[in-house]
Order: sequence, then C-alpha cells, then structure tokens
Amino acid sequence: MKVPTRHGYAFILQEILGRLRKGAIFFVAWFVALAWTANLRAQSAAPVTLVKASRLLDPRSGNVLSPAAVLIEGNKIKQAGSLPQMNVPSGVKILDLGNATLLPGLIDSHTHLLLDVVVPPKAESQRHLNGVFAPGLLLAIVESPVKRAFMGAQLAGQDLQSGITTVRNLGHSGIDGDTELRDAINANRVSGPRILASGRKLITQGEYLQNLNPALATTILQQEFLLIDGVDRARQAVRQNEFQNVDVIKVSADENLTVPELQAVVDEAHRQHLRVAVHAADTTSIQTAIDAGADSIEHGNQVTDEQLKQMRDKNVFLDLTPTFYDGFFLKITEPSIVMSPDAHAAEVASAARGKQRYDALVERVLKSGVKFAAGSDMCWFYPGKTRGEASVATFVNLHQAGVPALDTIRAVTTNAAEMLGWSDRIGTIESGKFADLVAVAGDPIADITELERVKFVMKDGQIVRNQLTSH
Ligand SMILES: [Zn+2]
Repeated sequence: MKVPTRHGYAFILQEILGRLRKGAIFFVAWFVALAWTANLRAQSAAPVTLVKASRLLDPRSGNVLSPAAVLIEGNKIKQAGSLPQMNVPSGVKILDLGNATLLPGLIDSHTHLLLDVVVPPKAESQRHLNGVFAPGLLLAIVESPVKRAFMGAQLAGQDLQSGITTVRNLGHSGIDGDTELRDAINANRVSGPRILASGRKLITQGEYLQNLNPALATTILQQEFLLIDGVDRARQAVRQNEFQNVDVIKVSADENLTVPELQAVVDEAHRQHLRVAVHAADTTSIQTAIDAGADSIEHGNQVTDEQLKQMRDKNVFLDLTPTFYDGFFLKITEPSIVMSPDAHAAEVASAARGKQRYDALVERVLKSGVKFAAGSDMCWFYPGKTRGEASVATFVNLHQAGVPALDTIRAVTTNAAEMLGWSDRIGTIESGKFADLVAVAGDPIADITELERVKFVMKDGQIVRNQLTSH
C-alpha cells in the first residue's frame, strides 16, 4: 500500500474540500428551488374569490360602479371595478351579494375599546363630586387588567360585526391593553378590527382623576397615563410607549401643557415615524397643538376660524367626535337612571344647546376646507346597543350635524386612512389594499343610516358577517 506523501495528503484534502463545496452549492441550489416552488404553491393556494354586487361606492371619487365586482386573493384586493370590464380567471369562487352596495371597511379614528363606563346615578356623581366619567375610569384602572382585556376583546368583536374594520385606539387601555389586543387580533386569537394602538395617554398632572388617596395617587395614575410635566419627561414618555410597540402617540392637551413640552413629544415621536394625535377641545390647547406640530387635533370643539385656517395651511387633520350629539347622554342614562321631571327637562335643554353648537362647528369646518376625519370617542356603556352599533351611530351624527353623506363616508374611510398614515393599506376598494369590505342593502348616499345596518363584513379576506347570501 502506497502511503501518500505530505504533498499527496494536501491533494486528498483539497479534493475532499472541493467535493464538499460542490455539494454545498448543490444543496443551496436545491434548497432555493424547493423554497421557490413552495412559495409558488403557497401563492397559488391563496383562495381567490369574486365578490359581486349591484353597486360599489368609491368614496374618493364619489362614483358608483354598477354592476361591480371585487376580486380577492388571500387577504388582498387584486382587482376592483365594473364587472363587465373585469378580467376574471376561471374557476374562482363567486360570492354574489345581489342588490347590495359595497363600501370600504369603516375606520373609527378615535375609540377606547378597553373602557366601558357605566354612567352612575345622579346621587353618586353629585354627592361624590366626581362626575360621570371618573368612577368608571377608576374602576377600570384598579380592577384586574385580565378582566379589562376580556372586555376589550368583546368590544373589538362588536366593532367588527358592525363593519368597523380598523380603529385607532387612543388611550384608556392600561399599560399594554391595546397593543396586546392588537397583537392577539393579528394572530387570530380573537376577532376584531385592525388596531392602531397608542398605549398610555400622555397628560399633565391634574388633568384626570383628582381627589385620589395621596398615598396611592401616583401608582394609580401610572397604570393609565404617562405624566409629561417638563420637556425631558415628555421625551421619556414617548420612549416608554415605544417600548410597548405603539403605532401612534396620544397626548391630552389642557391649558397647562406648554408648546415646548408638546414639541418634544412630536419631535421624539416623528423620529420613530409615529404620528401624534392631540386631544384639544379649548382654544388655548388647540393653539398649543397647532404650534407644536401635532398631526391631528381630536375633538377641536372650540376651534376658531383663524385656527381652522392655520390647520388647513399646515395640513393638520381635525378628527371630529360627534359623540354627544343629539341627546346621547339621555339615551345612555334614561334606561337605567330615574330622573326627576326637572332634571329631565334640564338634560333635554342642554342636549338642544349642544346640538346647535355642533351644527355651527360643522358649518365652519366645511367652509374652512380643513381636512377632517371622524371618530366615535366611544367609551360608554350604551344600553340596547353593542359597542359597534353605538360607534357607527356617532358617524351618522356627523351627517345630522350638516356634513354631506359622501363627506361623512369619506370621514370614516379615505380621510381616516390618510390621517392614520395608512392610505396604502385601507380606506378604498383598490388593487393591493387589504380585503376589508362592507355591504349595505340600500344606497348609503340617499340614506346614511344604512351604515347602521351593514349586512356583510369582510376583513382581511375573511367573511365576518353575511346576511346577504346563504353561503
Ligand atoms: Zn377619547
């Protein structure tokens, strides 16, 4: 047997390495081919459905396509348009919604899915001097976060059943209630809309929940809010929310909040590509929000014409929340609270004044040309209505207050998507967007209350509700 020389060993080693290398290249090529075919198989396995309906309303243009169809592949819209012009592959599943009108899934730009305040009896709010909101909020904070999470899951499901396929949840979720609910929905653990979660609301000291036990006050407040007294704390608060992986930053501005504090929030949030939604109802807070560079102003009830002009020029969205319009408070209290005739008359008069004020606000907003969306700001228990039904009713209020039907629909579809920074994903029925659709039986432009009676809901290509076909 010939023993290899030193040179011979090197040769054998080189030979082995060479073969191994060829083997490795072959293995990589085989693996890539396998992955590619698996991908092809996965692509072709995505279910394709053609949804047909008599009409499709495009909120952006206001056009109605008839007859219309939407081709859905997996969770995305592949094609949408007038049925005769569509190029429909053979063998697709067909879902015929008959005489219905298709619309994009609705977007609630301002909600609180982890809060369900039951208005206390008058004696409670009067004798304890803590109003109608604080007792319910306090209970939500100090009770079990698990209990709260289950409630949030229930309310999210109710929103989706009513055709709300996306929400922006702006606070009142404990520390991580809304981010966890979002993730649970995305992972298909519970049913609900897409959620843009804000995490904890940034506030200045003294804005919510006064008269707490001083020994517990800070601990209680920290479960729900991040205090931003001072520029450094403002920046820190944004970072704390980023740690919870939030999608948006919510600040509640009052007259104590300074422009530098809010600027610090905006600067820090924008560095992370997060938008800033600022609750501002009074004129001073609205000015602070405009000056500091807020992306949207929530509520804006006392906005002046000059401020509307500044908002339009700076491209700041106004998120209208017509929650209390038209005697809402009476509707949610009367079924459970016995009122004296005097108290009832006072509530009726106050509702009428509120309605007048809101009509005047809407008229000025429309005249100003400022961009607006709408949110329900729903956080109340509404006897006889699900959370979804109560939320959609507030969108209808916007029309009652003077916004034309098409603009009302835009406020909860195209405009809302733009305000959220999600125009590329939701808000219209267009190729490449998520397959989030609703259908109503009639014509929502002629009768906006059709939105309160959605018959068909699809989110992410999955049918959530279908009262139009037997399949
Ligand atoms: Zn709110």
